[in-house]
Amino acid sequence: MFLFKKNNEINKMAVFVFVFLIFWKFFILWLLTIQELPSNVPAPIFLDKIIHFSLFGVLSFLIFVFFYLTNNGKFESIMIAFFWSSFYAIFCEYIQSFLPYRNASFFDFLAGMLGAMIILAAAFVKGGIWEHKDKRNPRLLLHICCAGCGVYVSSLLQKNYKIVLYYYNPNMHPKAEYKKRLKEVVRVAKKYKLELILGPHSHDKWLEKIRGMENEPERGIRCEACFRDRLEKTVQVAKKRNFDFFTTTLTVSPHKNFDIIKNIGFDMEKKYGVRFLCQDFKKDGGFQKSIKLSKELDLYRQNYCGCEFSRQVGKPKMKSL
Ligand code: SF4
Repeated sequence: MFLFKKNNEINKMAVFVFVFLIFWKFFILWLLTIQELPSNVPAPIFLDKIIHFSLFGVLSFLIFVFFYLTNNGKFESIMIAFFWSSFYAIFCEYIQSFLPYRNASFFDFLAGMLGAMIILAAAFVKGGIWEHKDKRNPRLLLHICCAGCGVYVSSLLQKNYKIVLYYYNPNMHPKAEYKKRLKEVVRVAKKYKLELILGPHSHDKWLEKIRGMENEPERGIRCEACFRDRLEKTVQVAKKRNFDFFTTTLTVSPHKNFDIIKNIGFDMEKKYGVRFLCQDFKKDGGFQKSIKLSKELDLYRQNYCGCEFSRQVGKPKMKSL
C-alpha cells in the first residue's frame, strides 16, 4: 500500500487511477476475444490501427498519471509508462499469435506505440499542468524541521509562493521524538491544506555521515554536515518534482548559524540548478513569532535540537527551540 500513500494518508486519486488502469488492461485483453472483421466486411481504412493507437495511448497515459501521483518525477513516470505499455503491447500481440481467429501484427504494435509516444510526449511538454495550477506563484519546496518553525515560515511565504512541505530529518533521535514532531507537522499541513512530502528517517545512515564528529559542539562541523544532508535531499526532491525554489525553516532558530545554511543553500543551487530562497527567518522577530503561533495552536515544542548528541544525559536542556 505504500505506493498509494501521500502525506501518510491514502492517495485516493492514485487508487482511482490504479483501479481504472487494471480495468483498462483487462478491457484490452477482452478485446482480443472478439473475432477480427472478415476482410469482405467494409470498415474504415486503418480501423484496427486507430484502435491500437487509442488503446495504448490511454494505457500509457494512465500508467504515467499513476506513477506521477505516487511521488515519482515526470521524466521517470514517462519512461516507466513507455516501457510498461510497450511490454503490454508485445504481450497482447504474442497472445494473438496463438488465437485461431486473430493474427499477431508488427504494425498493430507500432500503431499502439505511436499512440503511447504521442500521449507521453504531450505529457512531457504539458505535464506541468498538474504542478502549475497556480500560475501566479512559483512553487517552493520548504524543508520543515518542526511544526512550530514550519507554521510561521509557511504563513510568511504563502502569499508569494505555492508551498509544499518536505519533512526530512534523519538526524532526529529517538524514533519516538521523530514521530512526535511529525505528528505535529501533519496537523499543521492539514490545518493549512498544504501538501506534505515525507523523506526517509534513515538515522543509521545519518550517523555514518557525521561519524567522527559526534563530540563536536552544537553550531560546529557536525551541524554543518547535518544541514548539508538535509538541504541536499531537499534540493534533490525539488529538482525531481520541478519546483522553482527550495528553502528550509532551519534559519528560524537563533541556535543555527545562518551563514552556514546560506552557503550550503547556494552550493546546492549551483549543483542542482534549483533556486535557493535565501532568507533568514529569525529576522524581524521571526523566532518569537514562531513561538507565539505555536502557543496559539498548542503545538509541541521540543527542548533539544534533534540528534542524541544535542540531548546528552546530564546536559541542561534548552528552554524551547
Ligand atoms: S545539534 Fe541539531 S543541527 Fe547539530 S547535528 Fe544535532 S540535530 Fe543536526
